[in-house]
Amino acid sequence: RHLPYFCRGEVVKGFGRGSKELGIPTANFSEQVVESFPSDISTGIYYGWACVGNGDVHKMVLSIGWNPFYKNIKKSVETHIIHTFKEDFYGEILSIVIIGYIRPEKNFDSLEALISAIQEDIEEAKRQLDLPEHLKLKEDNFFHLPE
Ligand code: ADP
Ligand code: MG
Repeated sequence: RHLPYFCRGEVVKGFGRGSKELGIPTANFSEQVVESFPSDISTGIYYGWACVGNGDVHKMVLSIGWNPFYKNIKKSVETHIIHTFKEDFYGEILSIVIIGYIRPEKNFDSLEALISAIQEDIEEAKRQLDLPEHLKLKEDNFFHLPE
């Protein structure tokens, strides 16, 4: 109902769940940006487009979840961009459009199960984003505005 949802904000340090060690780094938005989200948006995994600074627009998967760092009373919004970056981009402005929902949040019995679920999310995101109606949002003016 809230989709597509456009959002822009600074990339901050997360709470070190070691996403990067899993090979799936997630760029975290600040608390302030997360609080600007519709409060009734469902937690779970979404797909969409993302761009760092004035860079290229890439496919992404995004998780909206409960933030363990704040005893699960605040949400966290984390974007995994489906692209290999040469360097980290903490402090940069991340622009995203959230387009569709993939699945609710789940608990996994093992790290392997978690990683394979995320790999499936990424494959699903790639397929969805190749559809013409989703591709056109990649060219949205939102991503081409001057800073
Ligand atoms: P943190 O707990 O600080 O969020 P992560 O392990 O989740 O740490 O790594 C996130 C950081 O990795 C991002 O803030 C960004 O600077 C960097 N990064 C590098 N490549 C990517 C990518 N493809 N998608 C998201 N973040 C990336
Ligand atoms: Mg992270």
